[in-house]
Amino acid sequence: MNKENWALLSVTVNLFQSAIKFVGAILTGSLSMLGEAIHSLSDSTASIIAYISIKFSEKKHHRFPYGLYKLENIGAIVIGFFLIIAGVEIGKKAFEERIVINKEHLPVAILIMVVSLSLSLTLSFFERRAGKRLNSPTLVADSYHTLTDAFGSFLVILSLSASHFGYEYDRYFALAIAGLIGFTAINMLREQIGFILDISADKETVERIRNIILSFDDVVEIKRLLVREAGGRIFIDTTITIKAKDFIKSHNIADAIERKIVEEIPQVHSVFIHYEPHDDGGLRIAVLVDDKDGIAESFGSAKKIMIFKGGEGPEVLEPNSRGEIEIAKILGNLNVDIVISGHHPRDSRAKWYLHRNGIFVWEPESRNIYEAISEITKNV
Ligand SMILES: [Zn+2]
Repeated sequence: MNKENWALLSVTVNLFQSAIKFVGAILTGSLSMLGEAIHSLSDSTASIIAYISIKFSEKKHHRFPYGLYKLENIGAIVIGFFLIIAGVEIGKKAFEERIVINKEHLPVAILIMVVSLSLSLTLSFFERRAGKRLNSPTLVADSYHTLTDAFGSFLVILSLSASHFGYEYDRYFALAIAGLIGFTAINMLREQIGFILDISADKETVERIRNIILSFDDVVEIKRLLVREAGGRIFIDTTITIKAKDFIKSHNIADAIERKIVEEIPQVHSVFIHYEPHDDGGLRIAVLVDDKDGIAESFGSAKKIMIFKGGEGPEVLEPNSRGEIEIAKILGNLNVDIVISGHHPRDSRAKWYLHRNGIFVWEPESRNIYEAISEITKNV
């Protein structure tokens, strides 16, 4: 069963409970039962709003380009205020009036509350199990709410049973129910206002997202990870460093990360990944050397390639072929960052190849190898 169906089931159960509790409250005149009826009604209203907003949250308008997904949160805030008013009203009534319970219908009323209590317990059990299976913190949180609903029903059963034995304590039980309603309302308001203010998603979800991103070998580091939650959706904004140097490869990695996150956490609505190339701590500098051990005037006149990395002594290569494209390809395979050469290559394919691999051509002032290198390193 998906989130939509759970919302529908919750609406049905709560509406049914509310209806039978209202009947019981009218029959017995019990204020605690009336409070519970109002409570169940507000629970079903909240579920209806959640259901409608799931249906309509995809609708976009040019003035609301992100969609109207926060309507659910606004709806819940309205219900929260309504619950507070209901709680205060019940509390006031409990203080002002002496409640006498009509004994005639007591057995029916107790039966109603037992049915309601069992429904809440059953629903809570299945919600919690499904919430764990679907990995939905919302459903798990809702299962705890349903458990407090069961507690409310239990209080009313106590009140009615006491009345049966001649103890008229309904006003005190009504007061406890009013307190329960107030407690629910304040929790609801606190949570919903958090969503409106872009509260971070829960720790577990953030940790899961972090692990998914780091499961990619090319990801070196997560520099920033912002995860916010609203309207039951998750929005991710992250900055990572990636080993790959060229743009296309980095882009493909970012795409793959996004796909995996959405696949594993379906509530994720959007993922923004900003990626930066990883600096592995040292530039790889290649020097094209001519037959007199000076800087080669061009790619074509290079006899040797000397590779310097992170202050380490040069690795020397003597390429077999001296075409500009071949030299460019060798430099690309060696992951060179900067190549020192008297001039840029003339061949446009060689130029393109260097560009695609992010290799920068440095035309030095000096034709001495070490002076040329220091022209670069003093600027780094
Ligand atoms: Zn409730």
